[in-house]
Amino acid sequence: MTHGDNDPFELEAMIALRRDLHAHPELGFEEVRTSAIVAEKLEEAGIEVHRGLGGTGVVGTLRIGDGDRAIALRADMDALAMPELGEVPYKSGTANTMHACGHDGHTVMLLAAARHLARARKFSGTVHFIFQPAEEGRGGAKAMLADGFLDRFPIDAVYGLHNMPGLATDEMAVVVGPQLASSDSWEVTFHGVGTHGAKPHLGRDAMTAAAHFLTAIHTIVARVVDPLQPAVVSACAISGGDFRALNVIPDDVRIGGTARAYTGEVRDQLEAEIGRLAEGVANMFCIRVSYDFKRRIPPVINAAAPTDAALAAARAVTGKPVVTNFPPSTAGDDFAEFGNLVPGCYVWLGNGPAVDGALHHNSRYDFNDEAIATGARYWTALVEQELR
Ligand SMILES: [Zn+2]
Ligand SMILES: [Zn+2]
Repeated sequence: MTHGDNDPFELEAMIALRRDLHAHPELGFEEVRTSAIVAEKLEEAGIEVHRGLGGTGVVGTLRIGDGDRAIALRADMDALAMPELGEVPYKSGTANTMHACGHDGHTVMLLAAARHLARARKFSGTVHFIFQPAEEGRGGAKAMLADGFLDRFPIDAVYGLHNMPGLATDEMAVVVGPQLASSDSWEVTFHGVGTHGAKPHLGRDAMTAAAHFLTAIHTIVARVVDPLQPAVVSACAISGGDFRALNVIPDDVRIGGTARAYTGEVRDQLEAEIGRLAEGVANMFCIRVSYDFKRRIPPVINAAAPTDAALAAARAVTGKPVVTNFPPSTAGDDFAEFGNLVPGCYVWLGNGPAVDGALHHNSRYDFNDEAIATGARYWTALVEQELR
């Protein structure tokens, strides 16, 4: 089969591949089948392939001409541990595992672009195609970096892309500055003195302390953080006691949640303030507390120069004006691990209307195959403009 000017991205085959990946989703660091397919499709196009980076990660390297600049384009490959409830012919065949964030589409768009770039050879320099495992909270970017990604593949800039329901499939948003928030988690355990539910005066009640703490943490964003700086503190899990023992005040109550920010200063503030309130409430009730704040991923902040390049590429390939005032999201993406070390730009590509309101991580979400051509065209234009 040849791929002439009318089908530079092998669209029919790529749509079939996207649906095949959708039917065979794999969780973070378990993308064995997916990464084997990626490696095979890259090799088939004559691209140098490096397997096993950060576990199941794959890097494809394409050097053309004598240009000395190098850039990396990143796609994520993992699915989520949730059931697929929508009815599509290529519905997930794996129980409780689903491509509900469109990483099947991200993988295929980058593959389509890589194969086209290798055939067309219209740039001068080096491009590394990053197929990253485990974006969904399992630390795939960190694992690739720990495996020496930047030493083995030195780059001048790094680019990422995510689909976005609500924008048209020939529409993109490219915005300088903060795109996604830092995503950290925290845990507080109040250690009281358990006692009979009828005799609270004989113990120290961790349950009441937890209740005070839960209302107090909402003063952090409202009263401590600069009102012009976005921040989120949410408690998302609580445990203590037993519903089969409603006459027992437990020793310990454990609470956990998330904290989000767009700057290092606010991130530091959230870490310090949650701990300070936990300590203060524990003191108030004369009990002990333990506190743990885990820095998971930094915010995604688009740097000026790569954002200019991304904007030029998006303008060259999309049918609609590029959106340059798209609001940042309080979600996170570990693309930030790369963007923290090398200037980066992360863009949004439309996924069409949210069918039945199915947004990312919804059990009826599906990547829109009509976006594949726009995504592949964008990656291609970016490389050909960046590495002239
Ligand atoms: Zn996701
Ligand atoms: Zn995602």
